[in-house]
Amino acid sequence: MTKVKIPLAKPYIDQKDINGVIETLKSGWLSCGPKITRFENSFAQYITRENAVAVSSGTAGLHLAVKSLNLKPGDEIVTTSLSFIASANCLLYENIKPVFVDVQENSFNIDPTKIEEKITNKTKAILVVHLFGQSADMDPIIKMAKGYNLYLIEDACQGIGSSYKGQKTGSLGDISVFAFYPNKQITTGEGGMVTTDSKQVSKQLKMLRNQGRDPASQKIDHQVLGYNYRMDEMSASLGITQLDKIEWIVKQRQALAQLYHRHLSKIPKIILPKVKDDRTHSWFVYIARVLKNRDQIINNLSKKGIQTRAYLPAIHLQKPYRDKFGFQKGNFPTAEKLASQSIALPFYIGLEENDIQYIAQTLKKSL
Ligand SMILES: *Cc1c(COP(=O)(O)O)cnc(C)c1O
Repeated sequence: MTKVKIPLAKPYIDQKDINGVIETLKSGWLSCGPKITRFENSFAQYITRENAVAVSSGTAGLHLAVKSLNLKPGDEIVTTSLSFIASANCLLYENIKPVFVDVQENSFNIDPTKIEEKITNKTKAILVVHLFGQSADMDPIIKMAKGYNLYLIEDACQGIGSSYKGQKTGSLGDISVFAFYPNKQITTGEGGMVTTDSKQVSKQLKMLRNQGRDPASQKIDHQVLGYNYRMDEMSASLGITQLDKIEWIVKQRQALAQLYHRHLSKIPKIILPKVKDDRTHSWFVYIARVLKNRDQIINNLSKKGIQTRAYLPAIHLQKPYRDKFGFQKGNFPTAEKLASQSIALPFYIGLEENDIQYIAQTLKKSL
């Protein structure tokens, strides 16, 4: 194994993050304390939603978001075939049938022109994902959800800090979910957040994350079957100080994307990510495409100490989905093509221009 010189991702942690966590540890209040409330309040304000509910992961948040719709087993939710698997697993947890839609080649996001043909009388919601940090085409999707009286769930786990026509990603659905795993734009270690304007849904989420207990009651009184999906205070502390610098973080990531663009656009046979005119990109990852030999290129880069990854595989071709629903190669051709061509390149604050130059040169030689 060659030593990794340039890793794929790295969290950005500064002294304020460290001081905050130390303060929390010294306070002795490690769960269900003041930092959760503070993080939730500042998050809701930042996203411009009435309520934010912190949870233990993005996956837990997605599960609760689906649960909060009170659907029946066999109901359907229309969603994208190209995403991190959690955005569809959350449907399977509740026996909801995922109805996949192919993606747009130029954005990797769900193709709004292919949604309508998938809507049946069992369809209850659209779950849209803002992949890689760029918002999906929201206007036609919102129109469709309104027209067919469907809930709109946003998986904004990769989308914090981006916007669509001036509105924050994660403020456009009935309910939206964020994630703070260490490779995301901001991190709490493990953690997630659900945002909604509905007071009632917010109350239900708080109950579900804490074993079904009524948040207003002092008694140990379980109203519904709940979970332990709580975020702890150390994570919430990190969330507060990370969110404080979100705008700076996004600017740094945008600058890195520009540097990549400058160095990679001179190389033929490589397809670069596109930012659509009516939105801003917050760059969860930087994805380049090659027309062939993707896996070999990843190996070559690895031998030169550059960590990259095939990102992402199409969900419908993963074993649990093939086994349960009988999906096959060819079902969603654009998602499959993109999944076979894309490479996530190293992307984190602290990556230098000469690193990017080295990555570009090595990539060029491997093509
Ligand atoms: C990261 C991510 C999640 C899940 O978040 P975890 O915190 O890892 O559970 C869900 N959906 C998408 C699109 C993600 O990128």
